[in-house]
Amino acid sequence: MRRTRRESHLVLALVAMANPSTTCHSPSAPKPSITHVIFDMDGLLLDTEKFYTEVQEIILSRFNKTFDWSLKAKMMGKKSIEAARVFVEETGISDSLTAEDFLVEREAMLQHVFPTSELMPGASHLILHLHKNGIPMSIATGTHKRHFQLKTQQHGELFSLMHHIVLGDDPEVKQGKPSPDIFLTAAKRFEDAWLELHNVLVFEDAPSGVAAAKNAGMSVVMVPDPRLDSSHHRIADQVLSSLLDFNPTDWGLPPFDEVSA
Ligand SMILES: [Mg+2]
Repeated sequence: MRRTRRESHLVLALVAMANPSTTCHSPSAPKPSITHVIFDMDGLLLDTEKFYTEVQEIILSRFNKTFDWSLKAKMMGKKSIEAARVFVEETGISDSLTAEDFLVEREAMLQHVFPTSELMPGASHLILHLHKNGIPMSIATGTHKRHFQLKTQQHGELFSLMHHIVLGDDPEVKQGKPSPDIFLTAAKRFEDAWLELHNVLVFEDAPSGVAAAKNAGMSVVMVPDPRLDSSHHRIADQVLSSLLDFNPTDWGLPPFDEVSA
């Protein structure tokens, strides 16, 4: 059902009145009614960011350096080679280890741990709810196909509920996040002529991903790692500490069924 902007504002106001415990963190602007949802994957649906952190800590310890969250924030959500360049340059090890060699070394370690990837809290509940209510969903992840298969091998059933999945090595994705490329590609592949970008809701954990979604003209719920500096929260439309805290009615989406919640 399409609503005019005025009707949408009215609905949101009524929802807010009926639900005073809403977890909206957004300042002032009323939220658009959402018709389509796009998820990031690493650190948002899957608890995989920890693998990258652990492996990078091991590599840096060889150079007597430590890995901190300001560097992590710059790397998250970027294409692998872009993130690798940031890593070797910002840590000052680029004379000893090239971005390409870093990726080869990291790869060997990651291959072992990716198949153990687990879902983030609330991910399954939210995806099943949106699917049950006919909300089209997609994933837009910087992860390449090879890693995607390893990370999702225990979660095939849940990921099959996506209308489509756009990966980082998709030929249409020219630039990684914060470029809007991947989200615009994901929006286009819904093949809904009536889709409007401002009615698309993105779920992201990474600053570059939040920026990419905003650059694409979409709304963003950010679910950041608690160690991420809060200065990175600013441009998100809503910030939650967990997907478990998401309230669909904040966004004009059908409420959770209390019995199954
Ligand atoms: Mg992520």
